[in-house]
Amino acid sequence: MTKVMHRSLVSSPVEAVGGDGLHIFDKSGKKYLDASGGAAVSCLGHQHPRILDAIKQQADKIAYAHSAFFTTEPAEELAEFLTGIAPDTIQKVYLVSGGSEAMESAIKLARQYFCETDQPARTKIIARRQSYHGNTLGALAVGGNEWRRKQFTPLLIDVAKVSPCYEYRHRNNGEIEEEYGLRVANELEEKIIELGPDTVAAFVAETVVGATGGAIPPVSGYFKRIREICDKFGVLLILDEVMCGVGRTGSWFAFEQDGIVPDIVTIAKGLAAGYQPIGAVLLAQQIYDQIKVGTGFFQHGYTFMGHSIACAAGLETLKVISEDSLISNVIKQGDELRSCLATCFDGHPHIGDIRGRGLFQALEFVSHRDAKDPFKPSRQFSAKLKKKAFESGLICYPMSGTIDGVNGDHVLLAPPYIAETQDIENMVNTLRKAVDETLNQR
Ligand code: PLP
Repeated sequence: MTKVMHRSLVSSPVEAVGGDGLHIFDKSGKKYLDASGGAAVSCLGHQHPRILDAIKQQADKIAYAHSAFFTTEPAEELAEFLTGIAPDTIQKVYLVSGGSEAMESAIKLARQYFCETDQPARTKIIARRQSYHGNTLGALAVGGNEWRRKQFTPLLIDVAKVSPCYEYRHRNNGEIEEEYGLRVANELEEKIIELGPDTVAAFVAETVVGATGGAIPPVSGYFKRIREICDKFGVLLILDEVMCGVGRTGSWFAFEQDGIVPDIVTIAKGLAAGYQPIGAVLLAQQIYDQIKVGTGFFQHGYTFMGHSIACAAGLETLKVISEDSLISNVIKQGDELRSCLATCFDGHPHIGDIRGRGLFQALEFVSHRDAKDPFKPSRQFSAKLKKKAFESGLICYPMSGTIDGVNGDHVLLAPPYIAETQDIENMVNTLRKAVDETLNQR
């Protein structure tokens, strides 16, 4: 009997004993094709020799030195690298140990910024429905994932919510993409005015919505309008790229494709490709400067922040992505993935939408394609698909509650950036079989 309190208390996970490239092996020797990098984490696949080496080398030098006393070479170099790929205005990096920590830090940073700039009334955060920013209480409060929030709601700070930019479900007939983008972005302006412009600190959004909605990209013009509104009211724009950042969508940062620059952006999952737990908050120099001339101290911190081995793994991951031209491969194989999904699921009566960017794509399932009706939640389609795919040796990321936290199902694919055409074909073909078998189950 296990003494580990696993995610599920009624079933035990399979024991992983090895990995190689796109594959994970379990104790029985069964091989799994990792088509989602776990949860969009393993962007270099498994057991990449360069990352393993970087970890070992750093461990031989100094494994841990508390950040209240010391900095380390990998922490400094990682921050150099990250600011080198970030827009010019973003020139400082706060290193943490994961996505939720990054989001907590970003929220507190925004709040402290307004205290330092003599705007203490700015205490309110606006975020979006159908989003996920982490499971710690602050990040959960900002998130709009209803089933994750439900039982904890009494513990959460009040965060105002506006609509997500979800074209497949919410663009009206006859409305062009840009009109829809403006309409939904303008909800932010209305909300700021309703709350009182001088009381709003920040707007938080995933640039491309991840697990909650299934790789939902913004329509063109949406984030340009969001940026304008934030600027007009002096509200900070915090983009959560914990899942969609670090090259996943075909550019280092997903927001590059939307032609805007946030004030703060968070990254995590792909940052050290799963070899070490790490996350980062990248912030505008301007925010840093205000805190520096103010109290000179960010009232925050974690014991393991800027951990030297995690930083070494993160730095080496970024070097491999850069030196092996893996972002170009994300673009190439992302196109391949999209066209394989389109071909393989062409005319499929239960696929309503195929969407995403780069190697971050999803299928949204429907019971009737024309009416866009979702499956009944009681059917538990996503849970069954996850099980069926896993039995067939495919790791993918199905999720329910796509539309409103209760209704809707999707499956997210986020293969490693090292994937080749043959791998993409294999994963899509295996997924098609798993989808059809799941549909036939009832
Ligand atoms: N933000 C987004 C967009 C995420 O997808 C996640 C995790 O899935 C988080 C934040 C939280 O990250 P972590 O699980 O590393 O705390």
